[in-house]
Amino acid sequence: MRISLFFILLLTAQFAQARSYIDGHLHYVDFFQESEGMQALLSAMDQGNISHTAIMGIPVAKKWQEDEPKKPRYYAGDDADLYWYSATDFYLLHAIQQLKPEQKKRFFPFLSGFNANDKNAATHIRRTLKMNPGFWQGIGEVFTRHDDVTALMQGNTPRANNEAMMKVYRVAEEYDLPVLLHSNVTSKRERNPLYLEELEEALSKNPDVRFIWAHAGTSMELHRHQEELDFLHPLIKRLLDEHDNLYIDLSWTLLEPYLLDAQGKPNPNWLKLFTDNPTRFVLGSDVVGRFSNLGETMSGFEPVLEALPKDVAQAIAEDNFLKLLPKKEAQ
Ligand SMILES: [Zn+2]
Repeated sequence: MRISLFFILLLTAQFAQARSYIDGHLHYVDFFQESEGMQALLSAMDQGNISHTAIMGIPVAKKWQEDEPKKPRYYAGDDADLYWYSATDFYLLHAIQQLKPEQKKRFFPFLSGFNANDKNAATHIRRTLKMNPGFWQGIGEVFTRHDDVTALMQGNTPRANNEAMMKVYRVAEEYDLPVLLHSNVTSKRERNPLYLEELEEALSKNPDVRFIWAHAGTSMELHRHQEELDFLHPLIKRLLDEHDNLYIDLSWTLLEPYLLDAQGKPNPNWLKLFTDNPTRFVLGSDVVGRFSNLGETMSGFEPVLEALPKDVAQAIAEDNFLKLLPKKEAQ
């Protein structure tokens, strides 16, 4: 009797510990538009306690250029271009359409395959949305100001406030779709919020569009060239106060050095920002096409979540993302 009670308590304790997550930022394909596929993804989600995933393609493809002897392994592998690649959305659509109904429910597909510098992009998006009414749950990840990625892209670097994107936001508003926007807050060398006004203009001119700011404007390339950006924490605090339509994606480049110190301890200033703004932050893995690290990446947020009040942790781990999704009537 005593032993069985012990096991029940043990099981209950384990059950209570198993937090479930929504991954708000996952790329089904890599920069070559390749993927391990849905079965690998679903089993990684099961193992990592990831209930749902905002899933998207990648709007550009890396070229294996004629003069390169070896096929590049990453977009940064050589100097060859990245070109706009709309088929990414159709790979994703096809992959989801093959799933069983209960599996489909675990995915929130985002539409990303458009040229963010093309003033016709909004028309292309509208046409694609109409093809599969109610399928797409968001727009993005849109690459604007993304250091080496946008430097290698054919054509000009898109900006969060360019005319083409302003037209895209009109569509997002009409269909009630959130927009996941990658817009680096600065360049690799400048230690000031060089590109901030582009984001702020997009936010203030589109108050009815929900913006998810990918990695809060940071990237791995910024970290490689600069240490912690001192202005980031006060900046996010101000932006959240001034723009009700802004949400922050905490995916991986924010974990270190911002949320966790070198010893892996949560930073109290960031914990306070989360507690003061419990509805404004979401999690993401930002994995690209390979899913073996998915569970580990999401559980990397645990030291932060465990240091927060339970309701705040639950909001950030799952509930906030659900609230960003379109209300059904809009579609
Ligand atoms: Zn991403």
